[in-house]
Amino acid sequence: MESVLKKYFGFSTFRPYQKEIVDKILDGRDCLVVMATGSGKSLCYQMPPLITKKTAVVISPLISLMQDQVMTLKERGIKTEHLSSAQSASRVQSAAESGQYDILYMTPEKACLLPSSFWSRMLKTGICLLAVDEAHCISEWGHNFRIEYKKLDKLRDMLLDVPFVGLTATATEKVRLDIISSLKMRDPHVTVGSFDRKNLFYGVKSFNHGSPFVDELVEEISKYVESACSTIVYCTTVKDAEHIFKSLLKVGIKAGVYHGQMPNCAREESHRSFIRDEYYVMVATIAFGMGIDKPDIRYVIHYGCPKSLESYYQESGRCGRDGVASVCWLYYTRSDFIKADFYCREANSADQRKAIMDSFVAAQHYCFLTTCRRKFLLDYFGQICTFDKCGNCDNCTSSRKETDMSREAFLLMACIRSCGGQWGLNMPVDVLRGSQSKKILDAQFDKLPFHGLGKEMTVNWWKFLANQLIVKGYLVEKYADVYRSISVGPKGLQFLSSCRPDYQPPLYVAVTSEMIG
Ligand code: ADP
Ligand code: ZN
Repeated sequence: MESVLKKYFGFSTFRPYQKEIVDKILDGRDCLVVMATGSGKSLCYQMPPLITKKTAVVISPLISLMQDQVMTLKERGIKTEHLSSAQSASRVQSAAESGQYDILYMTPEKACLLPSSFWSRMLKTGICLLAVDEAHCISEWGHNFRIEYKKLDKLRDMLLDVPFVGLTATATEKVRLDIISSLKMRDPHVTVGSFDRKNLFYGVKSFNHGSPFVDELVEEISKYVESACSTIVYCTTVKDAEHIFKSLLKVGIKAGVYHGQMPNCAREESHRSFIRDEYYVMVATIAFGMGIDKPDIRYVIHYGCPKSLESYYQESGRCGRDGVASVCWLYYTRSDFIKADFYCREANSADQRKAIMDSFVAAQHYCFLTTCRRKFLLDYFGQICTFDKCGNCDNCTSSRKETDMSREAFLLMACIRSCGGQWGLNMPVDVLRGSQSKKILDAQFDKLPFHGLGKEMTVNWWKFLANQLIVKGYLVEKYADVYRSISVGPKGLQFLSSCRPDYQPPLYVAVTSEMIG
């Protein structure tokens, strides 16, 4: 095995888990491989065909991704092709049937369209494994569900004795179980690698939409460019991507742009130029994703809160693949959080809607967090975490201390409760600030005992306090269409019940920079 590793890949040792997984596949065992981007998952399905001299069939979602892989593998002397719907398909198909490939890539659509006669001929010449890359796409609980993936179970019935290998970089427990059952895996060998990318620094900043912030961002990026650091700026909309792209060009920073509304050829050109370091900055939507095999990306900036922590982890994980210290900043603005409904439009069922919403709320909590971000991410992905502070995220490195804010928290929660559950955060904050707006007078909230009691603090100050109380579970934010309403959750009610006017039990929160500024 080591000689194959050296001969074809030029590596002298295996990375963690690789050898074990290859062994299991060679034993004929189904495998589920959940390992971080860049940890070397592909090798697990690329080795067995070279050892067994049988073909590995690899299902992959993107043609461009397959093309890249095929090219690199061919350069290494591995007989590889991808079976697409293009003219070459029948040639590739018959070559495959006669066992001429080590690795044969295809999309899930193609895999389902191939006749059973193809599969039986392939079985005769020998299939050593069927790998399903980006396997989370099979799950409705995942962040990237694709209906074609669901149909792959048909292959199981035809390829009874072929080991199935599901690979993904991000899967919560629920998604893992879903992959196993959807692919009808039998007693699979499950590998969950560490999600901890120790070389990545995680940080979050909040901003108010508009030009002063974009200028600030551009200035920040220009520093990265000066030190020749490859940077991806992920935007949540095409409009934002274009805007930031143009702002960079305006100040003379060479940059590329990549999003779904550009023609294919322009996108590919952007991608190539970025890989070749013709420019250091790529401004993109999440359409710029799978298949970016650039090891030396130093910064990934998210401009706007991503739709889930799964996608955040995957997108931010594209930096520092070479193990060198790299940085992931997330910039959010509170108005990002009314986009939940936009993401839910993809939902086909109430369950799916809830799944999308839960993922989004988790991403929002990540933004509001005042404790270690790495710990939060690891907890989210179900990895047991032995530390409280990683020392390499903004919350761990800032000298900010938690302060007892029991009185302020009491005022805010009591005021929210008195306003009733149907308002967003603005109403109770305006009440505390003593506003005499028509809305407040109409609702007679100026008569509430809390009216004006929080004048000394700014609107933003109260909002950031609320953010922290949301993350800590005292307050609950609900979404209905584009409206958010805030109410006191069970934990908050318990706190309120132990409060008296002259005494509140201690409640520690961090004073964030936003609260000081
Ligand atoms: P993943 O599919 O998990 O995102 P890849 O398979 O693309 O990761 O591998 C990431 C990088 O690690 C690639 O550049 C690959 O060549 C390299 N790599 C994989 N296995 C080894 C190994 N055993 N030793 C050294 N480098 C490796
Ligand atoms: Zn930390």
